[in-house]
Amino acid sequence: MALIVQKYGGTSVGTVERIQAVAQRVKKTVAEGHSLVVVVSAMGKTTDGLVKLAHEISTHPSRREMDMLLSTGEQVSIALLSMALQELDQPAISLTGAQVGIVTEAHHTRARILSIETERIQRHLQQGEVVVVAGFQGISSTTDLEITTLGRGGSDTSAVALAAALQADACEIYTDVPGILTADPRIVPDAQLMSEITSDEMLELASLGAKVLHPRAVEIARNYGVTLVVRSSWEDAPGTRVVSPIPQARPLEGLELVHPVDAVEFDTDQAKIALLRVPDRPGVAARLFGEIALQNLDVDLIIQSIHEGNTNDIAFTVTQSSLHRAEAVAAAIAPALRNHADPTLGEAEVMVERQIAKVSIAGAGMIGRPGVAAQMFATLAAADVNIQMISTSEVKVSCAIDAADCDRAIAALCKEFEVTSSPANLEKWGDRSQEMAPIVRGAALDLNQARLAIRHVPDRPGMAAQLFRLLAGKGISVDMIIQSQRCRLINGVTTRDIAFTVAQADADAAQTALKEASPELGCSEVTVDRAIAKVSVVGTGMIGRPGVAAKMFEAFAQQQINIQMIATSEIKISCVVAEEEGVRALQAVHAAFGLAGTEQFQVPA
Ligand code: ASP
Ligand code: MG
Repeated sequence: MALIVQKYGGTSVGTVERIQAVAQRVKKTVAEGHSLVVVVSAMGKTTDGLVKLAHEISTHPSRREMDMLLSTGEQVSIALLSMALQELDQPAISLTGAQVGIVTEAHHTRARILSIETERIQRHLQQGEVVVVAGFQGISSTTDLEITTLGRGGSDTSAVALAAALQADACEIYTDVPGILTADPRIVPDAQLMSEITSDEMLELASLGAKVLHPRAVEIARNYGVTLVVRSSWEDAPGTRVVSPIPQARPLEGLELVHPVDAVEFDTDQAKIALLRVPDRPGVAARLFGEIALQNLDVDLIIQSIHEGNTNDIAFTVTQSSLHRAEAVAAAIAPALRNHADPTLGEAEVMVERQIAKVSIAGAGMIGRPGVAAQMFATLAAADVNIQMISTSEVKVSCAIDAADCDRAIAALCKEFEVTSSPANLEKWGDRSQEMAPIVRGAALDLNQARLAIRHVPDRPGMAAQLFRLLAGKGISVDMIIQSQRCRLINGVTTRDIAFTVAQADADAAQTALKEASPELGCSEVTVDRAIAKVSVVGTGMIGRPGVAAKMFEAFAQQQINIQMIATSEIKISCVVAEEEGVRALQAVHAAFGLAGTEQFQVPA
């Protein structure tokens, strides 16, 4: 007999008939001999409707009252489902977050779960009842009984947290799609259902996957080793398993990470090659990394940023032992990359840095929390570490620094982020899963971002920290950050450009803030481009496999799509392209990595 937590989303309980269908499914699972805790969302679009009502009364409704209002949606569905079960002669009881004892932080509308009392649930389970728990809500303290909510989409998080606290055998998320697909089927009609995805991959797909699974839920599953399955409410198909490595034992107090950073990682066996002034046209990255892949050299970080004029800089890192051959490839290709648009610029220049280290902070806690990257940059600056390269993904910020600074950097970062261990990604998964993992698991398109570039940022410790702290102070979350290779001498000061992306809604505020501060910071122009798209591929199988980036760039080159920016993490490659090419770019990489199939998936309305 297993203990299972099942979660049903809004559409799955959207009508009386659907609630009755859920009750049937729950009853069936009980009949198979299992104990069941069922978490439900509010019916259909109830929460949206309540938000709308609030805004008809007030432009700035207080967060506390919003929680009072929104938490009612789930209270309706738990009661109805419980009644539907009782109608089927299945003993059941509904409980609100407060009645269970789901204790959260006191942050209204975005609370994180601190702990869950299990005693009352256990008691009801022992009496043979199905316990129906309201998702998305908790209480901030047991004395004032303040109702909190976890943020939109938060009932996934409630379900996985309950599964962790109850040490359930599995957590099943029932939804209106068959599971997690290799891409958004509205854009890529031949997207396929994945039978499995690792929690790390899922987190890197946060911007895409968030619609299917709340990232915080994935993080809890990973940290506590919860067996997590996403499957359709309408059919019996197995869906997608989100698999996690066996976690280290962890206390259930402070259940959702209060720390934004989970790990500090480093790699001292890196060398950097930069190609400066390569032409800004389709096919250049494909050519360079194609040649490098032919030599079977594994590239780790890759960054490319935009510049004024018609040229780009591309920088990448390899292991120190491959530096020689990678350098030879870069040197051989440089003459061929002559800049036709502006012959005065001459050939691309190759720059090599023999001993660098990569330090990274990783953790899903940084999603939606502005300021984590800034905090990393500030910490490095305080330790007098200059940052040579920055590359970010959804759940990771990596900086290339001088190898001599590495120990100091790690010590400072571990202290700042209160991290004690620094697990290496590869060890965690073990060799076997590594070999079996597909190189690319899925692809994502984000059309919701704008790119900002700050020109001529003085190249000294602390600059990136100041810039991004400024933005964090305005509540602006930064997504992809790229610091370029090219140095320019402006009035005797070495400067670099820094480019980054933010949500389009934040672009104006970001530009204004940076413009105001730029005289003081000593930077010049701040430019904004809203017409961009970010295309990403994700897969743990790309670790240690040469040629993956080359294949992605080649797919773009074949479509004559120009790459504006590149940023990578160990398991993700993201490219910024022009907005109007985003859809074509996603389709091209999806096909290039063989993710397409023949099955068609229904797109829910
Ligand atoms: N009902 C809440 C929302 O719509 C929570 C959820 O559905 O997960 O955001
Ligand atoms: Mg949801």
